[in-house]
Order: sequence, then structure tokens, then C-alpha cells
Amino acid sequence: MKKIIKIINVQENNVLDIRFWPTDICNYDCSYCFPNSKDAIYRYPKNVDTVVRNFRKLFNVYNEKFGKDTFYINLVGGGEPTLWPQFSYFCEHIKKEHNVRLQVTTNGSRTLRWWEENIQYLDKVVLSCHNEFVDLENFINVADYVYEQGKVINALVLMDAPNFDKCVNIVETMKSTSKHPWLIEVKTVVDSPGHDVGSYTEEQLKYMRMGLKRIPDGEWILKHMDQLVPFKSIGMFDDGSVKPFKPDDYISQQINNFYNWKCNVSIENLVISYDGKVTGSCQEEVFTNTNLNMFSENFEEEFNSEALALKPIICPRLHCGCTPDTHITKEKVQT
Ligand code: SF4
Ligand code: SF4
Repeated sequence: MKKIIKIINVQENNVLDIRFWPTDICNYDCSYCFPNSKDAIYRYPKNVDTVVRNFRKLFNVYNEKFGKDTFYINLVGGGEPTLWPQFSYFCEHIKKEHNVRLQVTTNGSRTLRWWEENIQYLDKVVLSCHNEFVDLENFINVADYVYEQGKVINALVLMDAPNFDKCVNIVETMKSTSKHPWLIEVKTVVDSPGHDVGSYTEEQLKYMRMGLKRIPDGEWILKHMDQLVPFKSIGMFDDGSVKPFKPDDYISQQINNFYNWKCNVSIENLVISYDGKVTGSCQEEVFTNTNLNMFSENFEEEFNSEALALKPIICPRLHCGCTPDTHITKEKVQT
């Protein structure tokens, strides 16, 4: 059987992706929540001006070293990012000096009033739907409102194996009661203890194989084409063949063991976690100084010398467990 030997991210080279987890507090308590995602230990940074300044420093270093001039920041959880009290301030100020595209990935629990105040800062909204806690009526109203504002909106229904039928019903209710045809996608829950993606039945896997359950009309698609790439990376195989891979493909097909591969995570995709630590998006160390902290008053001085050491890393993990990470450029190291 042919084996995959290289993955090439289709994202442009001038883009740096950053996943920013501003808080570890959440108003939900999903049974499949990844461990330590919402423990309310760090809560959130209060020195928002320092945080904005440090982001700018990081942007400048990546620009000088790798030619990055476009920064996609995804304010995401675990933790519910919209609960960060400085969320609006951060979003407003981070765009002032750099080309920044802001996405929020949220559980969709905030009121319409909150969205009316904040939609101006956001370029893309992902509403993740968690079957155990969602207020479906509010969720649908919010999605309709975001769509009406002309933003890219994607409803992501987390398909929890024990509540699979309920999740399917949620998809159908969205389709039949929403005012607008925003995009609906289904997704496996994050591979976490007790929620092994290997536990889905064949029938459930078949349902999820076609991840898109509704796509907006043609006019909307044309307008947002640049943000709707149907596949995220190209896989190359040892027989010379290539194949495009869609967002969930590597995990759902269990082709996500890249142990010992050379991976570009340090150059393509970073994460800033609740405590301010900066790592590769899979939380592997990518800097020599493992204490680099985005919330620190000293970040500007400390990041100068560390940036020079940036290079691809050798993957130390048996599982690349998060969808965006699987699409980062990487290649098998010949032994
Ligand atoms: S909404 Fe997300 S962070 Fe909150 S409990 Fe559910 S899975 Fe965890
Ligand atoms: S786990 Fe990290 S280092 Fe390994 S392949 Fe995934 S992103 Fe790269």
C-alpha cells in the first residue's frame, strides 16, 4: 500500500497563522472538552496594551525573517474567547499597524447585542455547536445576523459519538429554520481521553465523510472564494502520486502519525496559550527560550535573539491531533 511522505500546506507563504487562546474560562462544560481547556486557572491577561505591543513585535520579526506580512489570528478555545473582557479592545487595536485578519471560534452563546457591538472587528466567525449546552435558537439567530453583516460564517457541529443522532437533528434544524443559507459543517470531536475518534461506527463515519452539510448560494461563494478553499493541503505519496486533503481527512482517516517527520510548525502556525506561552500550534516547543511569554513586559527584548533560531522541528508525537496542525507543511525524514 502506498504511503504518504510529504504534506504541502496550500496557504500562501506570506501568511502566519496564530491561534490565540485568551482565556481558560468557559460557560459550558462539554463532556468531550479537551483536558485543561477550561480550568479557570489563568483566566485572562489584563495588560492588554502589552499584549498588543508584543504581538506587533512578533509580527515584525516574522516579517523580517520569513517575509510574513499577513497575520491570521484565530481567537479560539478551549475556554470561550469572547469571555475575555478585553476582547473588543484587542480586536480593535491589533489591526491598526499590520495586515491582520481576525477570526473568532466561539460556542455561539453570546447574545445578539454582543454581536452587534463586536462584528465590526471580525473577518470570519466560526460558531462551534456543542450539543449538550447549545441554545439552538440563539445560535441560529446569531449565525443569521453574522451572515447579514456580510462576514464569512461557518457553523461547525461537533459530532459526539454517544449523542450522534441528536447532532444530526441539530444540523437538520439549522437547515430548516435559519433565515439564511450559511455554511454548515460537521466535524469529529477532538481526539481526547474517552472520546477516541476510533469509536465512531461505520455509519457515523459515512455521515461525516461529506463534511459540508449545507453550502451558501453561488453569489456568496463567489464573494468569499478566497476563504473557502475546499482542501487545505496536498499529500504526496511514495509512488509519486498526489492528492488534495480536506480539513478533517487526516484525522478521520487516521493518517496523522508524523513521528520523526520534519515539520514547519514554527514557520507556519503558532499558538499562544492562556498563560501567554508561545509555542508551535501543537504546543511543541519551537524557540530555544522556552519561557517566551506573550503577556510579559520583557517579551520585546527576549524575542530578538530567539527569533534567529527559528527553523523546522522534528515531530516528537505519535498523533498530530488537531485539524489545522495536520495540514502544516511536513515531510518524512529519510532514514
Ligand atoms: S465550549 Fe469548548 S471549551 Fe467550552 S466546555 Fe465545550 S468544548 Fe470545552
Ligand atoms: S504534532 Fe506538531 S510537530 Fe508533529 S506534525 Fe503535528 S504540528 Fe508538526
